[in-house]
Amino acid sequence: MSDATIGVVIKGQKYRWIGSEPYTRKDGASSNLNLWETDCPDCGKPWRITSGQYLGTPNKRCPECAKPGVPVRDGMNPKDTTR
Ligand SMILES: [Zn+2]
Repeated sequence: MSDATIGVVIKGQKYRWIGSEPYTRKDGASSNLNLWETDCPDCGKPWRITSGQYLGTPNKRCPECAKPGVPVRDGMNPKDTTR
């Protein structure tokens, strides 16, 4: 037995897998959603995201910090972004 955290790193950001929950699709088929937790690169708060079987290319920022179209810069220091 191991208690090592299961996680993935996508584009330099770590997403911790924290579990799954049952989910019923619109067509009535039962499925599962994966629950992930990641640290927002802007405010540093952990926040949760759900996905289907694969995480794909998830948001990096929490919903409060979401800036559509503004990429997070490498180096985890997005507030220094200059145009
Ligand atoms: Zn945030």
